[in-house]
Amino acid sequence: MAIDPELDLRGRLIRGLGSLREMFPGSFVERSRKCGKPNRRCAGGKYLHHEFLLSVVWEGKPRTFHLSAELAEQVRAKVEMRKRFEESAGKMANSNLRRFLRQKGKK
Ligand SMILES: [Zn+2]
Repeated sequence: MAIDPELDLRGRLIRGLGSLREMFPGSFVERSRKCGKPNRRCAGGKYLHHEFLLSVVWEGKPRTFHLSAELAEQVRAKVEMRKRFEESAGKMANSNLRRFLRQKGKK
């Protein structure tokens, strides 16, 4: 029996999800700004403060969590996982619909 390419695709997508299990919700934000205090290095606009944030709806409210540079890369990677998870879910749903339409067309 020939392998259904859609089922093969779905199997590969499902197996890929395990590696995304540490995903985080929200958006990772990296920005540079002046702190507003005069006579600081940042005041000239050249040496800005760098900040890393996780912006997320948390327990029903929009929240912003400040991140140390040390934690920033970890959080960026986890937020990225969520995007890949959603891409996989989208591909899986489309694949299921293609199979459904193909089978429906045969009846
Ligand atoms: Zn400053």
